[in-house]
Amino acid sequence: MSAGIREPVVTSTPEVAGLIGPGPHKALFLDRDGVINVDHGYVHKPEQTEWVPGIFDLARAARAAGYVLVVVTNQAGIARGYYDEAQFRIYTRWVHSRFEAEGAPLLATYFCPHHPQAGGNSGQICQCRKPAPGMLLAAASDFGLALDRSVLVGDMPTDIAAGKRAGLAWTCLLDSAKPARSFAAAALRLAGQGAVAKQ
Ligand SMILES: [Mg+2]
Ligand SMILES: [Zn+2]
Repeated sequence: MSAGIREPVVTSTPEVAGLIGPGPHKALFLDRDGVINVDHGYVHKPEQTEWVPGIFDLARAARAAGYVLVVVTNQAGIARGYYDEAQFRIYTRWVHSRFEAEGAPLLATYFCPHHPQAGGNSGQICQCRKPAPGMLLAAASDFGLALDRSVLVGDMPTDIAAGKRAGLAWTCLLDSAKPARSFAAAALRLAGQGAVAKQ
Protein backbone atom coordinates (compact mmCIF):
# COMPACT_ATOMS: atom_id res chain seq x y z
CA MET A 1 0.00 0.00 0.00
CA SER A 2 1.43 3.38 -0.97
CA ALA A 3 1.73 6.06 1.69
CA GLY A 4 -1.53 7.85 2.32
CA ILE A 5 -3.66 5.44 0.32
CA ARG A 6 -6.46 3.86 2.36
CA GLU A 7 -7.00 0.12 2.50
CA PRO A 8 -9.37 -0.59 -0.39
CA VAL A 9 -12.80 -2.14 0.03
CA VAL A 10 -12.61 -5.78 -1.12
CA THR A 11 -15.55 -8.19 -0.89
CA SER A 12 -14.88 -11.21 -3.08
CA THR A 13 -11.84 -13.40 -3.36
CA PRO A 14 -9.35 -12.35 -6.05
CA GLU A 15 -10.22 -15.51 -8.00
CA VAL A 16 -13.93 -14.70 -8.02
CA ALA A 17 -13.10 -11.17 -9.17
CA GLY A 18 -11.03 -12.55 -12.06
CA LEU A 19 -7.44 -12.71 -10.85
CA ILE A 20 -6.89 -16.18 -12.28
CA GLY A 21 -3.60 -17.58 -13.49
CA PRO A 22 -0.24 -15.88 -13.50
CA GLY A 23 -0.21 -12.10 -13.80
CA PRO A 24 0.30 -9.40 -14.53
CA HIS A 25 -3.42 -8.87 -15.02
CA LYS A 26 -5.20 -6.14 -16.91
CA ALA A 27 -7.79 -3.92 -15.27
CA LEU A 28 -10.68 -1.71 -16.21
CA PHE A 29 -10.54 1.21 -13.80
CA LEU A 30 -13.92 2.81 -13.23
CA ASP A 31 -14.67 6.16 -11.68
CA ARG A 32 -17.74 5.90 -9.44
CA ASP A 33 -19.90 9.04 -9.36
CA GLY A 34 -21.16 9.74 -12.87
CA VAL A 35 -19.93 6.38 -14.22
CA ILE A 36 -21.39 3.71 -11.90
CA ASN A 37 -24.06 5.77 -10.17
CA VAL A 38 -25.67 8.95 -11.45
CA ASP A 39 -23.88 11.82 -9.72
CA HIS A 40 -26.58 13.26 -7.49
CA GLY A 41 -23.90 14.69 -5.19
CA TYR A 42 -22.29 12.81 -2.30
CA VAL A 43 -24.23 9.59 -2.84
CA HIS A 44 -23.66 7.22 0.08
CA LYS A 45 -26.90 5.27 0.55
CA PRO A 46 -28.65 2.61 -1.55
CA GLU A 47 -31.80 4.72 -1.81
CA GLN A 48 -29.78 7.55 -3.40
CA THR A 49 -28.38 5.21 -6.01
CA GLU A 50 -29.46 5.43 -9.63
CA TRP A 51 -27.27 3.23 -11.84
CA VAL A 52 -25.87 4.81 -14.98
CA PRO A 53 -27.53 3.00 -17.91
CA GLY A 54 -25.23 0.39 -19.41
CA ILE A 55 -22.68 0.20 -16.60
CA PHE A 56 -23.35 -3.45 -15.82
CA ASP A 57 -23.15 -4.36 -19.51
CA LEU A 58 -19.74 -2.69 -19.67
CA ALA A 59 -18.64 -4.47 -16.49
CA ARG A 60 -19.66 -7.88 -17.87
CA ALA A 61 -17.99 -7.15 -21.22
CA ALA A 62 -14.78 -6.22 -19.44
CA ARG A 63 -14.81 -9.39 -17.37
CA ALA A 64 -15.49 -11.46 -20.49
CA ALA A 65 -12.47 -9.82 -22.14
CA GLY A 66 -10.27 -10.73 -19.18
CA TYR A 67 -10.17 -7.43 -17.31
CA VAL A 68 -10.58 -7.18 -13.55
CA LEU A 69 -12.73 -4.30 -12.31
CA VAL A 70 -11.25 -1.69 -9.98
CA VAL A 71 -13.13 1.39 -8.80
CA VAL A 72 -11.08 4.54 -8.10
CA THR A 73 -13.14 7.29 -6.53
CA ASN A 74 -12.55 10.70 -4.98
CA GLN A 75 -14.77 10.94 -1.90
CA ALA A 76 -14.42 14.50 -0.68
CA GLY A 77 -17.72 14.01 1.15
CA ILE A 78 -15.66 12.29 3.84
CA ALA A 79 -13.32 15.29 4.24
CA ARG A 80 -16.34 17.58 4.23
CA GLY A 81 -18.11 15.56 6.92
CA TYR A 82 -21.19 14.59 4.88
CA TYR A 83 -20.51 10.94 5.75
CA ASP A 84 -17.66 9.12 7.40
CA GLU A 85 -15.31 6.42 6.23
CA ALA A 86 -17.28 3.67 8.01
CA GLN A 87 -20.50 4.71 6.21
CA PHE A 88 -18.62 4.84 2.92
CA ARG A 89 -17.27 1.31 3.44
CA ILE A 90 -20.73 -0.05 4.27
CA TYR A 91 -22.22 1.57 1.17
CA THR A 92 -19.33 0.34 -0.99
CA ARG A 93 -19.87 -3.23 0.17
CA TRP A 94 -23.49 -2.86 -0.99
CA VAL A 95 -22.32 -1.56 -4.40
CA HIS A 96 -19.99 -4.58 -4.66
CA SER A 97 -22.90 -6.91 -3.85
CA ARG A 98 -24.91 -5.40 -6.71
CA PHE A 99 -22.05 -5.94 -9.19
CA GLU A 100 -21.68 -9.50 -7.97
CA ALA A 101 -25.42 -10.07 -8.48
CA GLU A 102 -25.06 -8.66 -12.00
CA GLY A 103 -22.37 -11.21 -12.82
CA ALA A 104 -19.41 -8.83 -12.77
CA PRO A 105 -17.75 -8.85 -9.33
CA LEU A 106 -15.52 -5.90 -8.49
CA LEU A 107 -11.97 -6.67 -7.41
CA ALA A 108 -11.60 -3.59 -5.19
CA THR A 109 -12.70 -0.04 -4.57
CA TYR A 110 -9.98 2.50 -3.83
CA PHE A 111 -11.05 5.86 -2.46
CA CYS A 112 -9.54 9.22 -1.57
CA PRO A 113 -11.18 10.70 1.54
CA HIS A 114 -9.30 14.00 1.27
CA HIS A 115 -10.06 17.42 -0.11
CA PRO A 116 -7.54 20.28 -0.30
CA GLN A 117 -10.08 22.83 0.92
CA ALA A 118 -11.22 20.78 3.91
CA GLY A 119 -9.94 21.59 7.39
CA GLY A 120 -7.68 19.53 9.65
CA ASN A 121 -5.90 16.39 8.52
CA SER A 122 -8.49 15.80 5.79
CA GLY A 123 -7.26 18.89 3.99
CA GLN A 124 -3.85 17.47 3.17
CA ILE A 125 -2.48 17.46 -0.34
CA CYS A 126 -2.49 13.74 -0.98
CA GLN A 127 -1.24 11.26 -3.56
CA CYS A 128 -4.63 9.68 -4.05
CA ARG A 129 -7.01 12.43 -5.12
CA LYS A 130 -7.38 12.31 -8.90
CA PRO A 131 -5.83 13.72 -11.09
CA ALA A 132 -3.02 12.16 -9.03
CA PRO A 133 -2.48 8.52 -10.06
CA GLY A 134 -1.92 7.17 -6.52
CA MET A 135 -4.98 4.94 -6.34
CA LEU A 136 -4.19 3.30 -9.68
CA LEU A 137 -0.56 2.77 -8.71
CA ALA A 138 -1.60 1.26 -5.37
CA ALA A 139 -4.01 -1.14 -7.10
CA ALA A 140 -1.30 -2.20 -9.53
CA SER A 141 1.07 -2.85 -6.65
CA ASP A 142 -1.50 -4.65 -4.50
CA PHE A 143 -2.86 -6.95 -7.22
CA GLY A 144 -0.08 -7.25 -9.78
CA LEU A 145 -1.79 -5.27 -12.53
CA ALA A 146 -0.13 -4.32 -15.81
CA LEU A 147 -0.97 -0.64 -16.10
CA ASP A 148 0.18 -0.46 -19.71
CA ARG A 149 -2.49 -3.04 -20.60
CA SER A 150 -5.16 -1.50 -18.37
CA VAL A 151 -7.77 1.13 -19.21
CA LEU A 152 -10.03 3.65 -17.49
CA VAL A 153 -13.55 5.01 -17.96
CA GLY A 154 -14.31 8.31 -16.25
CA ASP A 155 -16.61 11.27 -16.60
CA MET A 156 -14.18 14.06 -15.65
CA PRO A 157 -10.91 15.32 -17.13
CA THR A 158 -9.30 14.61 -13.75
CA ASP A 159 -10.11 10.90 -14.20
CA ILE A 160 -8.50 10.89 -17.63
CA ALA A 161 -5.45 12.74 -16.30
CA ALA A 162 -4.99 10.15 -13.54
CA GLY A 163 -5.18 7.36 -16.12
CA LYS A 164 -2.63 9.03 -18.37
CA ARG A 165 -0.24 9.69 -15.47
CA ALA A 166 -0.50 6.02 -14.49
CA GLY A 167 0.51 5.02 -18.03
CA LEU A 168 -2.69 3.20 -19.00
CA ALA A 169 -3.18 1.80 -22.49
CA TRP A 170 -6.17 4.07 -23.11
CA THR A 171 -8.84 6.09 -21.38
CA CYS A 172 -12.46 6.87 -22.20
CA LEU A 173 -14.17 10.13 -21.22
CA LEU A 174 -17.83 9.28 -20.83
CA ASP A 175 -20.40 11.29 -22.78
CA SER A 176 -22.67 11.90 -19.79
CA ALA A 177 -25.62 12.72 -22.09
CA LYS A 178 -25.32 9.31 -23.77
CA PRO A 179 -23.47 7.06 -21.34
CA ALA A 180 -24.76 3.78 -22.78
CA ARG A 181 -23.29 4.72 -26.15
CA SER A 182 -19.92 5.50 -24.57
CA PHE A 183 -20.01 2.24 -22.61
CA ALA A 184 -20.84 0.25 -25.73
CA ALA A 185 -17.92 1.82 -27.59
CA ALA A 186 -15.59 1.09 -24.68
CA ALA A 187 -16.84 -2.52 -24.51
CA LEU A 188 -16.05 -3.01 -28.21
CA ARG A 189 -12.59 -1.61 -27.68
CA LEU A 190 -12.03 -3.93 -24.71
CA ALA A 191 -13.06 -6.93 -26.78
CA GLY A 192 -10.86 -5.82 -29.68
CA GLN A 193 -7.83 -5.45 -27.48
CA GLY A 194 -8.45 -8.91 -26.10
CA ALA A 195 -8.46 -10.31 -29.64
CA VAL A 196 -5.20 -8.53 -30.48
CA ALA A 197 -3.54 -9.89 -27.34
CA LYS A 198 -4.31 -13.46 -28.41
CA GLN A 199 -2.50 -13.18 -31.76
MG1 LIG B 1 -17.09 11.11 -11.65
ZN1 LIG C 1 -6.40 11.49 -1.01
